[in-house]
Amino acid sequence: MSTAIERHARATAGFEQRLAQTVLQLQQAAAAHPGRIVLATSLGAEDMVLTDLIARHQIPIALATLDTGKLHAETLALLPAIEQRYGITVARFAPQAEATIHFVKTHGELAMRDSVDLRKACCHIRKMEPLSRLLASRTAWVTGLRRAQSGARTEVPFEDTDDAGRAKFNPLAQWSWHDVWHHIATNDVPYNALHDRFFPSIGCEPCTRAVSLGEDFRAGRWWWEQSSKECGLHVSAVQHIPQETAR
Ligand code: SF4
Repeated sequence: MSTAIERHARATAGFEQRLAQTVLQLQQAAAAHPGRIVLATSLGAEDMVLTDLIARHQIPIALATLDTGKLHAETLALLPAIEQRYGITVARFAPQAEATIHFVKTHGELAMRDSVDLRKACCHIRKMEPLSRLLASRTAWVTGLRRAQSGARTEVPFEDTDDAGRAKFNPLAQWSWHDVWHHIATNDVPYNALHDRFFPSIGCEPCTRAVSLGEDFRAGRWWWEQSSKECGLHVSAVQHIPQETAR
């Protein structure tokens, strides 16, 4: 089986310019929000690129992730890998144990597949509430959103404002999937082993599957639903026109 690097890494025109712009934006964002800015990393390929750039250029941006309690072992394995490679500890924000226990007891272990409402309720407990704590003392956050990830994200701006009025930076907005893997390949950035197994977008274990050739980039997320492939973390960019596909 070929690796994700073999399948996707390509040097394309304008890459060095996009890279320089990304580093500059990270530096400017950190300077504008000293001690109050965080990369909310999903530990996916894009966020590993940002982690690498933050570490490589010693940019004062904290790292934190949502440990939903349903992540793949391959995803969790990146936490010690980041520590070992970059000397950075990623802060983990877990859901309230009482809320998850009550939800599972009431609705079942795979309730998220029973209805969109139950899926959203699970995402609220395991993602949205911990995200509010992750961002509580922050005035700005950084994400790995890219315009090409899906039709829902075609309008992702470099700088945005979230519902709470915090600055939200998306420095990879213009990057392609080839760019992401080119940077990973040329800098030996650690990445989730699931990417090699045709998981372009990785979320919780019960809600993520591999995609087939030609499928939408986020087709493996909540694949049983016809509605938007978004969990609510980045809802302001939602439209729905499939764009980047698995290659
Ligand atoms: S992605 Fe799935 S398991 Fe994770 S919080 Fe959302 S519904 Fe729950």
